[in-house]
Amino acid sequence: EDNLFKNVISHAKEYGFIFPSSEIYDGLSAVYDYGQNGAELKNNIKEYWWKFMTLLHDNIVGIDSAIFMHPTIWKASGHVDAFNDPMVDNKDSKKRYRADVLVEDAVAKLQDKIDKEVEKAAKRFENFDSAMFISTNARVVEYQKKIDEANERLKSAMNDGDMAAMKQLIEDLEVTCPVSGTRNWTEVRQFNLMFSTEMGSVAEDANKIYLRPETAQGIFVNFLNVQKTGRMKIPFGIAQIGKAFRNEIVARQFIFRMREFEQMEMQFFVKPGEEMKWYEYWKDKRMKWHKTLGLGDNNYRFHDHLNLAHYANAACDIQFNFPMGFKELEGIHSRTDFDLKSHEKFSGKKLQYFDTEANQNYIPYVVETSVGLDRMFLSVLASSYQEEKLEDGSDRVVLRIPASLAPNKVAILPLTKKDGLPEKAMEIMNELKFDLRCFYEEKDAIGKRYRRQDAIGTPYCITIDHQTLQDNTVTIRDRDTMKQERISVDVLRAKLMDACSI
Ligand code: ATP
Repeated sequence: EDNLFKNVISHAKEYGFIFPSSEIYDGLSAVYDYGQNGAELKNNIKEYWWKFMTLLHDNIVGIDSAIFMHPTIWKASGHVDAFNDPMVDNKDSKKRYRADVLVEDAVAKLQDKIDKEVEKAAKRFENFDSAMFISTNARVVEYQKKIDEANERLKSAMNDGDMAAMKQLIEDLEVTCPVSGTRNWTEVRQFNLMFSTEMGSVAEDANKIYLRPETAQGIFVNFLNVQKTGRMKIPFGIAQIGKAFRNEIVARQFIFRMREFEQMEMQFFVKPGEEMKWYEYWKDKRMKWHKTLGLGDNNYRFHDHLNLAHYANAACDIQFNFPMGFKELEGIHSRTDFDLKSHEKFSGKKLQYFDTEANQNYIPYVVETSVGLDRMFLSVLASSYQEEKLEDGSDRVVLRIPASLAPNKVAILPLTKKDGLPEKAMEIMNELKFDLRCFYEEKDAIGKRYRRQDAIGTPYCITIDHQTLQDNTVTIRDRDTMKQERISVDVLRAKLMDACSI
């Protein structure tokens, strides 16, 4: 698994998908650049999301708000006071960790122990009843008790911001450092994840402002602008794609956890009391949307939140089976009226909606869906990367990226550089290039060119040969099956559009 992940990362670099930021200066931690193929794939993912949200729902519109916002917004949202992660250092290894993640890992280990006991017992007894076993087996009961207690203590330490209690929990669970195996921890400290800078050119004018840690607040503060100018009726949604910045304590897993990343968020405004209905609605919709991509239904699952954020009354994640296991891809939160109410209070402006049907004013409740664009990119890249052994004994690396998301839709390949084949190939390309991203190449043997296209995930290769000049047909090769067929140039465009459009 680890090796596979390493191969995916080096493939992403070798084929122009993702480069470490500032590489010639030895990189910048947890910041990455998207290369020529990565930028195309990323744009296609954005379009796939944006179209689903704004074209398929006539009550959702999109906006593009600024990264810089009035600093009081982050007071009102709770980010200045509460957007903290608990940080702890191991004195021996000198490595830094997120304390809550260490606790969660320790709990996961206890859960593993239970699972192993259950598995062993299931082999031993016929008619094995696991629920009965878990509630009666002394050792398992003991583990379960520890898990429940740890979860409870984690929740209250986080809610109260009680870092001494956090430290005590780490000690009681005998959490060892993943690197050195020691238990020599420093105090736990709160660490705010927001980046700040100054706005204004002279020091005296300087005003501390933040780089937004989520795009959602840009939607909340524009809620009435959009509602009024768009004559929106509740329930309605506002969608946005944009950069967010978090000074993550531990940022190690490639583009999974970055300090500068992009979010695709949609805030859905509903009548108070109806939020649970819409929360369930969006859970279902979002899961189905992910699955239609075809990366494998088993790669997705829901994960309910135990510790609810300060603004939520229900929350879950859609997790994806990443190379390092199931992890959060998208968050779905019922955010109540927390944000709008708080902005009313801090701004002194009314943020109420007049419901003509109910003939009343109210602050709407909000259901949020929030996907990390880069995480979705990683889910597509990692699950489509395949190393294959072919029948003839050779190897190939292929990216089985869904055709609608692939950077290039078709490669146009004249078999040779002479006899007018390049000219004919260009003629075909000129007909296709306005609708489909084409890639033209005439160098190297055709087999080698096919492999290069496999490696960047191009779903189709078109080869122009001598027969093309006679009967206006080409061979079209399918990336996944490697099968080739001869088709008329006249039907090419329709066939490709059908297979590749979003
Ligand atoms: P995590 O628990 O992994 O830190 P989170 O619960 O803080 O994530 P949210 O605040 O719900 O994340 O953000 C919504 C989405 O934004 C996440 O589902 C994730 O896809 C993405 N995201 C959050 N933080 C990062 C990051 N540092 N790098 C890349 N994507 C991120």
